[in-house]
Amino acid sequence: MPLKPCPFCNSDDDALDIFPEGTVPGLRFVVVCSTCRMRGPGAATAEAAMRSWNARHTPPEVAALVEAAALVEACREAIRFWQNAIYPPMEPIEAALAPFQEADDAEA
Ligand SMILES: [Zn+2]
Repeated sequence: MPLKPCPFCNSDDDALDIFPEGTVPGLRFVVVCSTCRMRGPGAATAEAAMRSWNARHTPPEVAALVEAAALVEACREAIRFWQNAIYPPMEPIEAALAPFQEADDAEA
């Protein structure tokens, strides 16, 4: 069963190990990230530990941040594209913006 990347450091399957934990009568298995040492929930079998790791909850705040970061990166990419597309004629734009810049400076 392929394991989802570590939610803390994004390490992939190669960095994730399944370890037994506890004593033999209470033996449980847990997925551990060898990069950041983050541990998944313990389970009675290795397969159940892997299922728990893959089914972990992503808080809505974290999902929103990941989405926002992707949006910011897309905006940066668009800005880079248009900067490259309009590259030489920046002076007319700066000249057009200069009066507003001076107004901002006067207010400050
Ligand atoms: Zn990790």
